[in-house]
Amino acid sequence: CGIVGYIGMQEAYPILIKGLKRLEYRGYDSAGVALIGDNGKLNVYKAKGKVAELEAFVRDKDISGTIGIAHTRWATHGEPCTENAHPHYSSSENLALIHNGIIENYSTLKSKLQDQGFSFRSSTDTEVLVQLVEYIQQTNQIDLITAVQLALRQVIGAYAIAIIEKQHPDEIIVARKSSPLVVGIGKDEFFLASDATPIIEYTDQVIYLEDEEICHIRRGKELKIVNLHNVEKKHTIEQVTLS
Ligand code: GLU
Repeated sequence: CGIVGYIGMQEAYPILIKGLKRLEYRGYDSAGVALIGDNGKLNVYKAKGKVAELEAFVRDKDISGTIGIAHTRWATHGEPCTENAHPHYSSSENLALIHNGIIENYSTLKSKLQDQGFSFRSSTDTEVLVQLVEYIQQTNQIDLITAVQLALRQVIGAYAIAIIEKQHPDEIIVARKSSPLVVGIGKDEFFLASDATPIIEYTDQVIYLEDEEICHIRRGKELKIVNLHNVEKKHTIEQVTLS
């Protein structure tokens, strides 16, 4: 339902929580956040209910880190509960992913992965995505963006996704099809969100991703946008104004 992400020089957690609150108007049943902490750990926290429940849950947790993704979920597959809340982890706990939309062919993909020995923690369609990306990455020994391209070529459905990887704390990969995703460009920092509402207080420079585009966001580097076949796409930076 709601997506927020941050990579830059500031602490990510307060920006993510503020962003989730800006998206509360959309309605949701649970909330969660994934951060790569200062000690290099990938920390995922989630809670059923309001963003306030998530804040209460993380009170004694490590919320450090200058990279993170956060989500408010409106359940389509799997009841509203903590396990089904996003972000979802890959089996090795190297990847964390958030998703808006519906993966139509998730049960076919899930059976294939189960045949390969993957086990699932949730009953969502979303978890299939993160496991599929990890499976492709591990079997082919390729980087995350290539694995995401190959995975999305197998997916039928609608998605706006963001993924972070513990081993590469300087990048976020985002992609979309039939579900909106906006990237905000600040000074030495990037924001992402399912609509511009959480971004406009930090920057008015945004890119609206198009269908089947994958955006490689790297700390301190230029954005790169490719399609599912690794063809680089030109992007236009738009200026959003407060209405
Ligand atoms: N289909 C996903 C789920 O049920 C995502 C729902 C959403 O867009 O929040 O977890």
